[in-house]
Amino acid sequence: MALDPDDYSVDELREELDTVDETDELQAILEAEQAGRDRKTAREAVHRRLEAVGADVAGDAGGSDNGSDDAAGGVEEGTETEGEYEETKETVGDEAEGEPVDEVEDEDEPAVDDEGAAGEVDEPQTRDKKHVRALADGHYEDMWVFCETQQGDLLEVSREMLGKARELMDQFAEEYGEEERVVAFLMGDDCEELAEECIAYGADVAVYHDDDRLERFLHKPYTEISSHMARGEGTVESTDWRDYDKPRYVLFPATNNGRDLSAKVQAELDSGLASDCSDLFIEENEVSNPVKTGEPGVKKTFEKVLHMKRPDFSGFEYSTILCLDNPGREFHPQGASIIPGSFDPIEPDYDRDGLVVEHDMELDDDWFRVEITEYDQLEAGVDLTGHDVVVCLGRGIADDPTEGMELGLDLVDAFEDAELGITRGIVTSSYQFDGHVEQYAKEERQIGETGQVVAPDLYIAAGVSGAVQHKVGMDESDTIVSINTDPDARIRDFSDYFVEGDLFEVLPELADAVGSGELAPEAVADGSGETAADDSGETAADDSGETAADDSGETAEDGEPDDGADTATGGETDD
Ligand SMILES: Cc1cc2nc3c(=O)[nH]c(=O)nc-3n(C[C@H](O)[C@H](O)[C@H](O)COP(=O)(O)OP(=O)(O)OC[C@H]3O[C@@H](n4cnc5c(N)ncnc54)[C@H](O)[C@@H]3O)c2cc1C
Repeated sequence: MALDPDDYSVDELREELDTVDETDELQAILEAEQAGRDRKTAREAVHRRLEAVGADVAGDAGGSDNGSDDAAGGVEEGTETEGEYEETKETVGDEAEGEPVDEVEDEDEPAVDDEGAAGEVDEPQTRDKKHVRALADGHYEDMWVFCETQQGDLLEVSREMLGKARELMDQFAEEYGEEERVVAFLMGDDCEELAEECIAYGADVAVYHDDDRLERFLHKPYTEISSHMARGEGTVESTDWRDYDKPRYVLFPATNNGRDLSAKVQAELDSGLASDCSDLFIEENEVSNPVKTGEPGVKKTFEKVLHMKRPDFSGFEYSTILCLDNPGREFHPQGASIIPGSFDPIEPDYDRDGLVVEHDMELDDDWFRVEITEYDQLEAGVDLTGHDVVVCLGRGIADDPTEGMELGLDLVDAFEDAELGITRGIVTSSYQFDGHVEQYAKEERQIGETGQVVAPDLYIAAGVSGAVQHKVGMDESDTIVSINTDPDARIRDFSDYFVEGDLFEVLPELADAVGSGELAPEAVADGSGETAADDSGETAADDSGETAADDSGETAEDGEPDDGADTATGGETDD
């Protein structure tokens, strides 16, 4: 036996096996592996090599101690593909046979289809998505950006993503010494000009598909066209600008349509998706998970990994999602959908050089069974910006949502220029509001990352926990007063004044104090404490000098950090 598998990691073994052409020798290596470390991924690698050299491997490899090998498919019991593969074979029929993962054409010589189209890969087509093996040793390049349009214009988030993609791929070139491109892809009715605009906003290439039936987003044709573009299918003229199997990275907007499209396209491309991301960076990553390394106790470094950050656990924590290959099964493009507003677009440069490519593909009439016969533009919603005061209600109103809403509105009315906002927690709740306040629970009043961004003189947050997605919509407010029963609520960290108390008690007292002129919002906002506060000592606005409107020198205005919020407890003041 020329090589002892025990001396090699699975990755190394895979490379070494490519140099072995003799069936007997491969059988000996397999037996040595079974007698030794008995790694499933190593045995699979030998099976594949046996298949590649044309050996009749069915049944002759013998089972390992851990289970019998399915030599024909190179899939073993206990792997993540067991069972699913069998089922797919049945459903797809012969197409599933004879398409082993490692039979991708030489990346330098892409397969040419019947019509002479370059860029085709020997990849199982995805009629049954239950399980299809993706590429191994595929060739991936470029960062693709789906540029969503509306009413003949690019959505702002499309420009934002292009700006971020430009930044990332410029860094990529510096880091790795390889120029890879930003590729915008879009579709619509008469969208060539928009493709050109994508170049101005940072793309190197813009691929567009024009058809008057694509004027509005339609799930089926948009998915089919995007997947077709990404796989490099189409005529030579529309694909000869690229020479790779699939994009390395892809970004979609986390809009309603973008969320829909991103999930479907990534499934079509046999990859994964990190949804609703708000930050991205590219870095190498060392992992020891055996699913990724192929064997326990070994570390493997993945290069050029897109790190996709997204808020989790109600926004209290950021997770970084990675899309890493498994041995013998690659996941590309590494894909994310991006929350609008996460990045800034670059200044457009209409003299920038770039390639605009018209995509070519037959569109099946059957994809247009859904016809949009009529549409209406919703009236502009409520504008919460530009007011002196914003009162925001959160899920703290849960005990009696209607009463909570009424109390919030009473406080709004007490001010001269105030509006009512809500958290997303309310928008997505199933609270039953009475009819007269129902309108205030709609998304148009939501404040935060996916709602409106406000910066009033005074922001009063009642029953709001302070999730990061909420924070980004209000933390530029001059003065933040929060009311919460939980003294450890996150919002306290970025409040100027924190009232520990039940909003059902505190809000009416505040409204009374404001309404009677005992509490002037300017005094709270400027931290002067020069209020006509009452002397009951029962409110967060009393005159003891220890109130939510005090001048104790602990406000943001006097240079102290935001986490120095004063606290008034249970309607009484602190100290
Ligand atoms: C992609 C994404 C985007 C998002 N965008 C937004 C966004 O734009 N805006 C947004 O707001 N959220 C957004 N969210 C949701 C966000 O993560 C939080 O889930 C949400 O902000 C929580 O709302 P809340 O503070 O009302 O509820 P909770 O987190 O449930 O907090 C309720 C608070 O009320 C307090 N409380 C309970 N009873 C009382 C009482 N009687 N008196 C006083 N206090 C009381 C509790 O102590 C608690 O702190 C987003 C989430 C994701 C994943």
